[in-house]
Amino acid sequence: MKTELLQSALDLLKDVTPLKTDCGLYCDRACCKDNGEAGSCVWLLPGEDGETMNWGKQYESEMPVTKASVRALYCAAPCERDFRPFLCRIFPLTPYFSDKKQLWSVRMDRRAAAVCPLYGWGKKGLRADFVKAAEEAVQILASDAEYEAFLKRLEAEETAYRMTL
Ligand code: SF4
Ligand code: SF4
Repeated sequence: MKTELLQSALDLLKDVTPLKTDCGLYCDRACCKDNGEAGSCVWLLPGEDGETMNWGKQYESEMPVTKASVRALYCAAPCERDFRPFLCRIFPLTPYFSDKKQLWSVRMDRRAAAVCPLYGWGKKGLRADFVKAAEEAVQILASDAEYEAFLKRLEAEETAYRMTL
C-alpha cells in the first residue's frame, strides 16, 4: 500500500520529463525494452508492490552486484503513465547521498550509459525542473527511515556497479 509520503514523491514527478520533448522518440523507448542489460525490468519501492501495475509481473529478485533483495516488475507491455514506478520517473537519474552537501540528491545513473542517449549530456543536459523534482522527491523519501534504507541499498548497488567497470 502506498504511503502518503511515497505518493507525494510520485506526484512531484507526475508531469516532468527528462526533456521538453518526448525523449523516447530519440531511442524508441530503449529503457522500456529488454536489451539484456537495462530496460524492461524496474525495481519497486516499498509500498509500490501490489499496486495497479497490471502491464507486468512482479517477482522477488536481487540486485545484480550487491545481491540485495528487491521486488522487481518485469514489463510485458507499455505502462499506464499515471502508475509508473518511482524509479522509471527519475531515470536516467539515480539517488545518492552527497557527502559534500550532506543531502540526498540525484546523479546520472551509470547503468543508463548502456541504454540512454541522454547519459552523455549529464545532468546539465536534462530539464532543470526534472532534475529539481527528482532531487526533491528523493529528499521526501529520505525523510522516512524505511525509504532512506532503500535509497541506501540503491546507492550501494549503483556505486558497486561503477566499481565493476
Ligand atoms: S532511454 Fe533515456 S532517452 Fe530513451 S526513453 Fe529512456 S530516459 Fe528517455
Ligand atoms: S514501468 Fe513503464 S516506464 Fe517503467 S520500464 Fe515498464 S513500461 Fe517502461
